[in-house]
Amino acid sequence: MMHLDCPWCGYRNVSEFGYLGELRERPDPATTTREEWRAYLYLRRNPAGRLEEGWYHRAGCRRYFEAVRDTTDNTVSETRPPTRHPDGHDEGEHATAGDLDVTSVSV
Ligand SMILES: [Zn+2]
Repeated sequence: MMHLDCPWCGYRNVSEFGYLGELRERPDPATTTREEWRAYLYLRRNPAGRLEEGWYHRAGCRRYFEAVRDTTDNTVSETRPPTRHPDGHDEGEHATAGDLDVTSVSV
């Protein structure tokens, strides 16, 4: 049975978490080609070995965090609060409503 050490809740069964995939830098939508955007959305490296991943504690604190997992044996060597944001903000910066371009949102 696999367990994860949530930075806020401690060790919990992996069934409480949602897997978000490998941590990757989000490309700039203003300069990214369609092929690059498609690769970002759908293509995965799927390495055998150390992988930095995003997880979500959906049945607990409902917060996002990062984990370093060896994909060959599922050992998790580290979990930590998020250190990067997909929109390029540095650690410690927080996105605000002013950062969002709400004029381009369609419903
Ligand atoms: Zn938690």
